[in-house]
Amino acid sequence: MNSAEQLCLACGLCCDGTLFDNVQLGPGDDAKKVKALGLPVTVTRARTPVSQFRQPCTALCADRTCRIYADRPVQCRTFECGVFKDAQAGRITFAAALRLVKQVRRKADNIRRLLRKLGDIEEHRPLGDRFHRMQLSLGSGVADEATAHTFSELGLAMHQLNLLVCGKFYTKADTP
Ligand code: SF4
Ligand code: SF4
Repeated sequence: MNSAEQLCLACGLCCDGTLFDNVQLGPGDDAKKVKALGLPVTVTRARTPVSQFRQPCTALCADRTCRIYADRPVQCRTFECGVFKDAQAGRITFAAALRLVKQVRRKADNIRRLLRKLGDIEEHRPLGDRFHRMQLSLGSGVADEATAHTFSELGLAMHQLNLLVCGKFYTKADTP
């Protein structure tokens, strides 16, 4: 296994709902086959309908491998985050890339912990979506002091995560 593969297997942030809310299928994908492989493909109601499935991806295994790797959609085949590209090009070492990945994973885990503390156990939803739902539910300000404190911790943690992923992981072309 090469360093790039090791990096992605230690990461999974582009599959687990941290970086993206969904995976969109395009002309190069066989939506029926992806659905038959167990992915919950839905079609949007937009004027130009798009087939997609939600993240966290149900094909992501506990060891961060992809259950449908040989048949994964084009978006999955082609996406390379900024950290991956920087490591591949030698602009940073793979060890530094791994440190960044671990840093983001720790931050995302902390956000999930705070969401659970606030009563959100919907682990099947993407992180950004869970945060927005919590904002809608608690943002009006009717909360006890402890809840308000946890909510402000959550807001800060989300802000810090976004700064890190926008600066290091998204490239201009793939900012959602
Ligand atoms: S976010 Fe980057 S390093 Fe992580 S799995 Fe995806 S491409 Fe690999
Ligand atoms: S299909 Fe595989 S590569 Fe694509 S998001 Fe799911 S786990 Fe990741």
